[in-house]
Amino acid sequence: MKKTKHEKAVSKLARVVLDAADKRAGDIIKSYVDVSAMMAFKFLADELQAVRESYEKDFKEFCKTNGFTQYKVKDIESAAIGQIDLNVFKQYVTILNMQKAVDDWVNRFPNIARKYGITVENPMGRPIARLLLGRTRVEVWRRGEDYANKGRVRILDYDENQVKAIVSGTQNYEVFLKLLARGMRKQCTCPYASGDVCKHMVATALIWDNIRGFAPLAEDKVEMETIHPPPISRKQIAACYARPLKADLDIIRVATDYYNLSPKEHARLPRCPRIETYEKVPLTLTEVKGSLKEMERWTKRKTYHHYFCAGEMAAAFSELLDVIYSRLPASKPDEAISIVAYCVNWRYRKFEQVADGSDGVWIFPVARIGRIVAWLLKKYPTHPAWQDFNRTIEDVGHCWGEELNTEIIANWKYACF
Ligand SMILES: [Zn+2]
Repeated sequence: MKKTKHEKAVSKLARVVLDAADKRAGDIIKSYVDVSAMMAFKFLADELQAVRESYEKDFKEFCKTNGFTQYKVKDIESAAIGQIDLNVFKQYVTILNMQKAVDDWVNRFPNIARKYGITVENPMGRPIARLLLGRTRVEVWRRGEDYANKGRVRILDYDENQVKAIVSGTQNYEVFLKLLARGMRKQCTCPYASGDVCKHMVATALIWDNIRGFAPLAEDKVEMETIHPPPISRKQIAACYARPLKADLDIIRVATDYYNLSPKEHARLPRCPRIETYEKVPLTLTEVKGSLKEMERWTKRKTYHHYFCAGEMAAAFSELLDVIYSRLPASKPDEAISIVAYCVNWRYRKFEQVADGSDGVWIFPVARIGRIVAWLLKKYPTHPAWQDFNRTIEDVGHCWGEELNTEIIANWKYACF
């Protein structure tokens, strides 16, 4: 009965500490404090009671000598604990000569100690949670946090290098984590864990780091570094390749990030180079050359990556070709034909150099070039400008060992190559 009352008092005090805690602290931090603060205050209150009992009948005298009132000490052990000033509590700890008890407490709960402004020695060992981040799916991480917050981790044994814990979920699972010179060893008895990071490992890692004195990871770091499911599916990507002229170019822009297991930070390119989009304005070769020059300048950026930017280059080139296509009816045939010859040339001599073609993203602009040529051929089948066009593309084809002619290029629109 008395024990229950005592425990109630301790949790009430823990609540006071939490309320006083920095209001800006995240819920997660608060919850960590919650679990460990309750343990810490139970420990301190027990120590305090032990000290008082050791003074026995002299306690009254002791209190008088040290200038504090007995009832305050009793408050700490009683249900009235919620009203006590934490500074008074700290003061009693000092007066009652409980420094050793406080030191033990600091060792066990360094993060809470920091909250009281107590200087903590260097944290113990190395943190492990940040090593797990990049190998954990974000939803697994969130469940692990939830388990840690709900106090489902029972640490069986730990030192600075390894930890053993029982994590209770639908069943009890045993987790073992060990820091190695490079990387870590991780085990869990749950079925999910074969090869993957499971929520039990995450929960254990968070608690182990916490009790060794490491601050919780920043929320944005967790968001950034965990593995997120791709916002686009393989099916969507396949649909783009199946119908390149109808492809959603925004999918093509990011697709290369998802083909590869280790995408790199790379330049984010504009959607389209500068070009007049009003369809009633006739095209000029000069402006198209200017737009393509602009795209060439993008590739000079420090963060330009010929593989990871390929999707964006293909998409931007496609956007440009779509604008050209929309302006064909307003344009002069000889100008339009020389523009498309220039685009074929640019595709081979520039685009192929700056954009990795291994994922086949080139089919998107190429299908559009085909559509433009097919449209022009239908409208101006015998225009003399085709002679120049043929000469240009034959030269290009020759360099690339490909046979090129107007018919072949017009067929590009079906993207069957
Ligand atoms: Zn597990």
